[in-house]
Amino acid sequence: MTAQDCIFCKIVAGEIPSRKVYEDEEVLAFHDIRPVAPVHFMIIPKAHVASLADCTEAHRDLLGRILLLAPRLAREQGLTSGFRTMINTGRGGGQEVFHLHVHVFGGGPLRPM
Ligand code: 5GP
Ligand code: ZN
Repeated sequence: MTAQDCIFCKIVAGEIPSRKVYEDEEVLAFHDIRPVAPVHFMIIPKAHVASLADCTEAHRDLLGRILLLAPRLAREQGLTSGFRTMINTGRGGGQEVFHLHVHVFGGGPLRPM
């Protein structure tokens, strides 16, 4: 899939609406359309990168920023007792949208891993 066809690039561009949680120059966070928990949002880089397996040294700062945003945004969304993060990578990892995203969810019972 090219970035032109990418649903999350369209969300970044505002061509598909989303319920935003956070936005800066490099990063966007928005609620998942099919939440698996009472609170479920995703943090994505604005620039298209297909998956964690496609990241390089050049993405190191960006990945760090995204991970550090997770606890802050989780707290702001009311997940004060904790949350789960998930990054599905590749078809074998259950990835459905091939634009890197970190799921953050919680606020209800979670199955043990
Ligand atoms: P994956 O399985 O790739 O890790 O997760 C993709 C996630 O994107 C799914 O949880 C799915 O519900 C969510 N999703 C797919 N299309 C849209 C959309 O158009 N808007 C939003 N907000 N979420 C979407
Ligand atoms: Zn994309």
